[in-house]
Amino acid sequence: MRGTVCRDEAVVLRSLKLGESSCIVSALSREHGKIKVVAKGVRRPNSPLTGVLQPGNEVELLFYPRKDRELWTLSEASLVRAVLTGAGSLDKLSYLLAALELADRLLPEREPDAKVVAVFRGYLQRWHEGGSRSVAALFFALETRLLWNLGLGINLDVCGVCSASLKEFDAAFFRPNEGDLSCPRCSFGKGQRVSAEELDTWRDLDEILDGEEAMELSDQQRRRIGKCLHLHMSYHLPQYRIPKALFWLNVPNDERGAAR
Ligand SMILES: [Zn+2]
Repeated sequence: MRGTVCRDEAVVLRSLKLGESSCIVSALSREHGKIKVVAKGVRRPNSPLTGVLQPGNEVELLFYPRKDRELWTLSEASLVRAVLTGAGSLDKLSYLLAALELADRLLPEREPDAKVVAVFRGYLQRWHEGGSRSVAALFFALETRLLWNLGLGINLDVCGVCSASLKEFDAAFFRPNEGDLSCPRCSFGKGQRVSAEELDTWRDLDEILDGEEAMELSDQQRRRIGKCLHLHMSYHLPQYRIPKALFWLNVPNDERGAAR
């Protein structure tokens, strides 16, 4: 008994070897949320699915969903759009793979969430359209939006302690433990300093996935905003790890942890 076959559109997140010739493919699907399917024989030299199930590819999957099984069986897969059509540079590709890694780690399995799918689809679309220079901003926009969807959004407008508007100060201080920003009066010298200008840029990031042009971030903006997001997720999401793909970025070794 294999049950009823399902057809769903998905983005391939990850592919793990299974046995001699198969793979477990993790994918973010429209109707079923994040799913894991077994692709039998996909690693055989003549398998037509080898190129189809590459991470970042948009695909149509045919599979047999069964509530009592941890893994579902893939029946067929066809390519809708290949990731490599959008890759212009290693940096650009790194930010895509990093996004896939985040989705694979952070999203719950088999819990379809149309908003989250839309966020990732939007990211992917903008990634295909955009260049390498603005891809860091696009990635932070994804992280920022994803955090709101996971109930961990960061309020960039008011001090988390006294509720004063942060727009009145020349800097704010991100507090990873609390997951908020404090004004200089309430910071007591603690937290990650973010200048008013960096905070403005961070606010603008939120518009990117709604269609605004992604901007090119300076190295300092990228470091400051990236570090706050990284610390926030490290504190509040146990499954979070800094995406491995970001280690390929063209940044000096001593900056890698924060560079993102
Ligand atoms: Zn305050």
